[in-house]
Amino acid sequence: MDRLSVSDRDFIIRLRAVLGETHVLTEPVDMAAYLQEPRGLFHGAALAVVRPSTTQEVACILKLSAEAGIAVVPQGGDTGLVGGQIPIAGTKPLVLSLTRLDRLREVDLHSDTMTVEAGMTLAAVQEAADAADRLFPLSLASEGSCTIGGNLATNAGGTNVIAYGNARALVLGIEVVLADGRILHDLSKLKKDNTGYDLKDIFIGSEGTLGIITAAVLKLFPKPRSRATALIGLADPRAAVDLLTFTRNEAGGSIIAFELIPRIGIDFVLKHTHGNQDPLAKTHLWYVLIELASPQTEGLDDILLRILQGAMEKGLIEDAAVAATLAQRDAFWRLRELLSEVQGREGGSIKHDVSVPIADIPDFLSEVEATLAEKVPGARPVPFGHVGDGNIHCNISQPVGADKQEFLDRWDEVNTIVHAIVAKYHGSISAEHGIGQLKRALLPSVKDPVALDVMRAIKQALDPQGLLNPGKVL
Ligand SMILES: Cc1cc2nc3c(=O)[nH]c(=O)nc-3n(C[C@H](O)[C@H](O)[C@H](O)COP(=O)(O)OP(=O)(O)OC[C@H]3O[C@@H](n4cnc5c(N)ncnc54)[C@H](O)[C@@H]3O)c2cc1C
Repeated sequence: MDRLSVSDRDFIIRLRAVLGETHVLTEPVDMAAYLQEPRGLFHGAALAVVRPSTTQEVACILKLSAEAGIAVVPQGGDTGLVGGQIPIAGTKPLVLSLTRLDRLREVDLHSDTMTVEAGMTLAAVQEAADAADRLFPLSLASEGSCTIGGNLATNAGGTNVIAYGNARALVLGIEVVLADGRILHDLSKLKKDNTGYDLKDIFIGSEGTLGIITAAVLKLFPKPRSRATALIGLADPRAAVDLLTFTRNEAGGSIIAFELIPRIGIDFVLKHTHGNQDPLAKTHLWYVLIELASPQTEGLDDILLRILQGAMEKGLIEDAAVAATLAQRDAFWRLRELLSEVQGREGGSIKHDVSVPIADIPDFLSEVEATLAEKVPGARPVPFGHVGDGNIHCNISQPVGADKQEFLDRWDEVNTIVHAIVAKYHGSISAEHGIGQLKRALLPSVKDPVALDVMRAIKQALDPQGLLNPGKVL
């Protein structure tokens, strides 16, 4: 442990009186795993890492922190991609890990709800829903590690938003510890409750800057009994958007995924991985992975085939393969899920987690391609993702043979180019990953100034000392 001031030592002693010795970590070797995120992009330091296991313990920690004037950085599974869960450089706050708050409090099948503590992993939440013969539909590639508290704090999205909405849409009630240690009890199961402001929505998506989420009431859904999945080849993103509209008309709420994949992405997967195959007989410039699901056991394959036939007749699609087995479905999904990883193996990749109105996706992508061709010759756009949510991960791979670091040194310049086009289409520079520390400096340039004033007023009201996750979002 570094040499501590008398007041810091006194603070640690008080924390240990609440949590015991083992759950107040102060040795660098014990804290290391909590002070960087897995990709190694963000590193920080901390006075201590605390690991409470009850809401009451969280409340005591925040009360002590408020009295001592010590900042608190909440952390769930440490999978966030914008550095929100890591202390900012040059500070030594308390890192508050929620992973021991991991109990399933209740499943209520009449209300179709599940009350869970914040530190349950998303996978554990999904499994608990499954064991109750229900579906909790939030699904992210990080679900084995990320926590439901982190999912709510970032208003996470993922692949099923098209059918079920993002994390915000899946919550009925919430329990939050405020900056002064008071507990806001709002674990409501009510679908209808118009008694004033809906406070849960202030905390969802606030990235740990307004309160510590300790539990939530989640909505449950009927479990799908059948799925139908197809990988479709088409000419361009305009055809993909037209196909989405056509499919929505035919299949309504049963579309649970509609993912865009560019040919270059498939090429990267085939080049950098083993055991994956070109999904269709010929190559196509663009692909869509579409999945339908239904609580009925039969009929979905026929609906999908009818859609594909209709889309073919309308000239929207060039070819398609329907997954006949689970193995084929997995093979299609692997092509989609490997896209982030293979871009890393192809060299430097400059990331953009952006959204634009669905109808504008084709023009947005054309403009990105044309502008980059002019300003960063050779750079290769690899845009993919959730067309049904207007959310495209508009990543740009380095030119073939270019120096990786030289390309990555142009990160801000490329971000500025892409974000300007996002702004032109009234989109968002952070569709699902949040602001954290990565995009904090950009927020004032993209957010309405009045909206920013309101956000600052809420922050001031809930955290007047500025102790909750400082240096993030605002
Ligand atoms: C491979 C991979 C794929 C991903 N795919 C997606 C995706 O498809 N969609 C998507 O939206 N995100 C995705 N993410 C990002 C990430 O998984 C999500 O942001 C996730 O919701 C973070 O959860 P976490 O528990 O890891 O939170 P952390 O990373 O620990 O924290 C994230 C933020 O939430 C705050 N926080 C955490 N817990 C609490 C709490 N209990 N109370 C208050 N604040 C809290 C932290 O301070 C921080 O600001 C992906 C990440 C990876 C690594």
